[in-house]
Amino acid sequence: MSLFNNFSFAGKKALIRVDFNVPLNDAFEITDDNRMRATIPTITKILKDGGSVILMSHLGRPKEGPTEKYSLKHIVKHLSELLGGVNVQFANDCIGAEATNKAAALKAGEVLLLENLRFYKEEEKGDIAFTEKLSKLGDVYVNDAFGTAHRAHASTAIIAQFFSKENRTFGLVMEGEVMSAEKVMHAAQKPFTAIIGGAKVSDKILIIENLLERATDIIIGGGMAYTFFKAQGGKIGKSIHEDDRMPLALEILAKAKAKDVNIHLPVDNVVADDFSNTANTQTCASGEIPDGWEGLDVGEKSRAIFAKVILASKTILWNGPMGVFEMENFQAGTKAIAVAVAEATQKGAYSLVGGGDSVSAVNQFGFNDKVSYVSTGGGAMLEYFEGKTLPGIAAIQGEGK
Ligand code: AMP
Repeated sequence: MSLFNNFSFAGKKALIRVDFNVPLNDAFEITDDNRMRATIPTITKILKDGGSVILMSHLGRPKEGPTEKYSLKHIVKHLSELLGGVNVQFANDCIGAEATNKAAALKAGEVLLLENLRFYKEEEKGDIAFTEKLSKLGDVYVNDAFGTAHRAHASTAIIAQFFSKENRTFGLVMEGEVMSAEKVMHAAQKPFTAIIGGAKVSDKILIIENLLERATDIIIGGGMAYTFFKAQGGKIGKSIHEDDRMPLALEILAKAKAKDVNIHLPVDNVVADDFSNTANTQTCASGEIPDGWEGLDVGEKSRAIFAKVILASKTILWNGPMGVFEMENFQAGTKAIAVAVAEATQKGAYSLVGGGDSVSAVNQFGFNDKVSYVSTGGGAMLEYFEGKTLPGIAAIQGEGK
């Protein structure tokens, strides 16, 4: 496997798994084309090299074979515009005679888009006969769909075995995601601080356990912190918490101590008498929240402590907001983290923001170009943080063939 930019696609037909799973409105207009835009540099480089491109993707979750609503034909025109007017051919079926003939006739600089892969159940099942038919369409396999890298589907993973190591590679989107994830999880310079927030402990438990093996410091904020406080005997009012996860919270604290990992929980909280932006608020020390009040953000003292930890870090991973950042009155904690991560990055730290709502927060606050990398990987990045092997990565990097 070589780096994408070292790959020469001259005279090659590149079969690219892209993520064109874009939202369409009732008139079949694309309402958010970010996923399409992201992969344009990958396609352009191949065309510039003198290769041709066969694009395959899924769109939505069609249940019963071909459905108008989920047809990729709706995106052909926009794709052509994004490619600067390059004509985009379309095959009404991802396998079969039309796809085979159109792929065979492709000349250098030409682009063919295949119909939705998920019109076949075989795609998600990773059916080998279906996969082999797909594989025959191209000379080289490029995976640029990091968002589906955690799925062992025909086009995302199984297909790689039909290409030699020299003939398969990540596209630029996927390469960026994999390199940043590997840098943080396997080659982190220390101090390495992980900032974990969000609503529930149960959603993040596997990530925290994996990070206990890697990080020097873990900041825990957001709704999940209240399960920790309650487990320690603190008063949390009506804050969000999971009673059944309290033993686990204590276990995490004990494990962290044994492994010499510093856990930083908030020392104070912005609490409200209602889950509303117009609720009355006050600041309370952790473990001392009165009945009828709920913690919706980390307090000022916590923000200062967290910022100090972040500014002393060389590697930073951030997943999950510190509070209910969707409401203006409870954004300050999450914003303070964004400011600190940006400042640490400017001082030379490597920072990765990934998986879910911290990504929305960073984008919303306009900090996306002030951190080292913002992942678009969602569920795939979360599984990577959990320490799982992603089939889409392993298929390209593995030893097969
Ligand atoms: P996640 O997807 O796990 O990162 O969780 C993000 C969600 O957690 C956001 O919608 C936040 O509003 C929510 N959240 C963060 N802090 C709190 C809190 N203290 N109470 C309730 N929800 C919270």
